[in-house]
Amino acid sequence: MALIVQKYGGTSVGSVERISAVAERVIRARQAGDSIVVVVSAMSGETNRLIGLAKEIQARPSERELDVLVSTGEQVTTALLAMALEARGQCARSYTGAQVKILTDSAFNKARIQAIETQSIMADLAAGRVVVVAGFQGVNAEGDITTLGRGGSDTSAVALAAALKADECQIYTDVDGVYTTDPRVEPRARRLDKITFEEMLEMASLGSKVLQIRSVEFAGKYNVPLRVLSSFVDGPGTLITLEDEILEQAVISGIAFNRDEAQLTIKGVPDSPGIAYAILGPVAAANIEVDMILQNVGVDNTTDFTFTVQHGDYDKTLDILRAEAEKLGAREISGNPKIVKISLVGVGMRSHAGIAAKMFKVLADEQINIRMISTSEIKISVVVDDKYLELAVRTLHDAFNLEEAGAFTR
Ligand code: ADP
Ligand code: ASP
Ligand code: MG
Repeated sequence: MALIVQKYGGTSVGSVERISAVAERVIRARQAGDSIVVVVSAMSGETNRLIGLAKEIQARPSERELDVLVSTGEQVTTALLAMALEARGQCARSYTGAQVKILTDSAFNKARIQAIETQSIMADLAAGRVVVVAGFQGVNAEGDITTLGRGGSDTSAVALAAALKADECQIYTDVDGVYTTDPRVEPRARRLDKITFEEMLEMASLGSKVLQIRSVEFAGKYNVPLRVLSSFVDGPGTLITLEDEILEQAVISGIAFNRDEAQLTIKGVPDSPGIAYAILGPVAAANIEVDMILQNVGVDNTTDFTFTVQHGDYDKTLDILRAEAEKLGAREISGNPKIVKISLVGVGMRSHAGIAAKMFKVLADEQINIRMISTSEIKISVVVDDKYLELAVRTLHDAFNLEEAGAFTR
């Protein structure tokens, strides 16, 4: 008998009909003899609706109150699913994160899980009950409700699977696995049977929101077998696993993109020690995260400096730079919020030269101008104008033969 943690995302529990379908799926797994812990998200659109209500009342609501508010979305789904299970003759119990005691730190809106009490869940499972836990939430040492950041139910599920030493953590969503790229942008994208933790972590970090970044970190750290599947159709999904378990490894596993970045440029600052710190220090002090950074080679003792931040931080960053411009001795400050970052990801890149050159040629052939480039061992990212997103992703997908299984393998 296996212990499985199943997580259902917003669309998968988006209506009474969908919740009933989830109950049926859980019962099928029970009939196969497995013990099931279900983690649920809020019904689709609910978290955004709640945040909208808060913003109507206060432009910047308190982070503590926001967590009290948005955590209710998941609580609703747990009770409805437990009822759907009971209505079908299954014993079930719903729990909030605080009831389980999913202990987190006190970083409201982006809390981290520190520990999970498992005794009562284990007792329920031993008594033959299905346990339904609210995703996305926990409780801090003071007893305040916390939430784990957008998409956080993935992390609740993986953390529970790790704490319970589950045999598998299954993430049910509206796609039937992890694809070579977002199928909404490239309909010819191909489902991967397997992908390494490392690649999935890069994909998630570079914008593929199919799994929350922290859930992949957690799964890798505790070696939790993780699978992404569809709650709408049956199938094997995608297993996220260790590198040595993948026999035929492609050079490129996928293409990720991030629409949520904006670019800032400071021209003509003195090319002297400390200039990067002088520019980015005030940005960091305002709690703004910087992603890509580029400093040009100095000419005539001055240099240009470009970096990217999240869209939501764009105006604030511009204001900070303008306020500092005189002190920095900058000639010009400009920005461009209409950019995207597109990245090729693959562990096979480590042993393969020429991937970057090929990527740049493919983009050049389409007359797509590259504004920034950054590389690491298993990824290459470029920043281009956002109007080229679809064109760039589709041509790269085609040029690297990603629609063909086993193509371009090492
Ligand atoms: P859920 O509500 O179930 O958590 P999400 O919307 O968070 O679902 O994640 C699923 C979505 O992730 C898909 O609908 C898809 O558009 C998007 N996505 C982005 N990149 C990928 C990818 N490489 N493979 C599969 N889905 C992806
Ligand atoms: N409901 C939360 C969100 O929309 C958490 C989740 O769905 O994972 O971000
Ligand atoms: Mg999600």
